[in-house]
Amino acid sequence: MARIAVGGFQHETNTFAPQQATWEEFVRADAWPPLLRGPEMIEGVEGFNIPISGAVRRLAELGHEVVPLAWAAAAPASYVTADAYEKMWALFDEDLRKLGPFDAVYLDLHGAMVAENTEDGEGELLRRVRGVVGNDMPIVASLDYHANLTPEMAKLATALVGYRTYPHIDMAVTGKRAVELLDRLLKEKRPVYRAYRQLDFLIPLVWQCTFIEPAKAIFDLVGELEAGEKSHNQGIISVTHTPGFPPADIAQCGPALVVYGHDREAVEAAADKLAQTVKAQEKAFAGELLDADAAARRAIELSKKATKPIVLADVQDNPGAGGTSDTVGLLAALVRHKAKGAVIGMIVDEAAAKAAVETGEGNVMHRGIGAVVGYAGEQPVVADWRVVKVGDGKFTGTGPFYGGARFQIGPMALVTDEASGVSAVLASKRIQAADQEMFRHVGVEPSQVPILGLKSTVHFRADFQPIAETILVVQSPGAHITDPVEMPYKHLRKGIRLRPMGPVWNGA
Ligand SMILES: [Zn+2]
Repeated sequence: MARIAVGGFQHETNTFAPQQATWEEFVRADAWPPLLRGPEMIEGVEGFNIPISGAVRRLAELGHEVVPLAWAAAAPASYVTADAYEKMWALFDEDLRKLGPFDAVYLDLHGAMVAENTEDGEGELLRRVRGVVGNDMPIVASLDYHANLTPEMAKLATALVGYRTYPHIDMAVTGKRAVELLDRLLKEKRPVYRAYRQLDFLIPLVWQCTFIEPAKAIFDLVGELEAGEKSHNQGIISVTHTPGFPPADIAQCGPALVVYGHDREAVEAAADKLAQTVKAQEKAFAGELLDADAAARRAIELSKKATKPIVLADVQDNPGAGGTSDTVGLLAALVRHKAKGAVIGMIVDEAAAKAAVETGEGNVMHRGIGAVVGYAGEQPVVADWRVVKVGDGKFTGTGPFYGGARFQIGPMALVTDEASGVSAVLASKRIQAADQEMFRHVGVEPSQVPILGLKSTVHFRADFQPIAETILVVQSPGAHITDPVEMPYKHLRKGIRLRPMGPVWNGA
């Protein structure tokens, strides 16, 4: 039995997004738990599909003593404020000094955190943790698929273990895998070699999905390299590839990979093989993007013969990547083309959601909805919105991504513009449209809707692809710009290509 300190600090930072991640965003609950510290953490994360949840459960099964530090996450947004970063670090610092000694540390990290005071949020955190626990203590961290895995992170952690799915349906499983590796390191006490590689092109999120090629085959290879009989003979113990999070304007942005094992040559060879495989697929990271009008027209046409919903993925206004989830490009196009029966969600507009609750079910409110932040100079969509159903925003996710998540996102409402027959799901807090329960909460059975607009880039596929006739990818205004070529970078490293087969970045 070992004493293992366990904590987490999660943020995916889109440095181009309009809203920052403040301390308040980390403290409150949304789809994920609120700030948790000490023994309350164990119960607080139970049942969620997040790494810390899988990790604490597995550590207990393995007979280790779990010493909870602090855990917090905020919805993807722009820079984590220095205030939030330092407040969180103060909790870690105090607990690491007070609750020790430990045999090891497990951290639930994202890997794409950029704070006002550091461009490598996780690298800096690991450096500070090392400063307290020393260089010899095993530190294993789990990482999101979208980590911008920096050389510093690779150097400071004993091992890093990343998700293998996008949509992320293996978040809790990754926490479990990370602590199983930690357990093995503690028991075997053998020297571990590390091979780290960075790829030299950015991959738009929309083409990183593991439900489609080329990511599907690449992640099959990741699994094979780690689990294959040959790998075990050669002592490869862990393989992680992180395709990266392009909207983070930092030098180490982009895809990377890290392989661990006991045989230096085998570890280097596996890293080379994986890097070459990703490189060879560069051209395959591509697909069709439609503007909002073309998408609305095609969806209406397709829905005439379809037996299942035509799903329109509003990929640039994904709050899971820093989008405001209130842009109205797609909503306005659906209204303009009179896409009768279409439903779009979530339109995050707290004032409109509250107004709908006050207006009451069955009644009509004449007002604008959406465009609250006013991204891209948009204006709200004004209409006579009939309030069909209201909800308090408290429900539990049931899909493969958000399953078990206990949502607390404030007033919600389904409102319908009767002139066009288009409906919108209003919400009060930013949340990605990645679970069917968000619609059922306001009386919509998603599988019965002819056209379904979803503010999500890829995560929606876990719960919605099975009920979709087809999925159209829409490029409508949103703070998560699909094509990195359009982002005003200042800090990337020179020589990286801005998209697969795209132009080389040579400085601002
Ligand atoms: Zn992610």
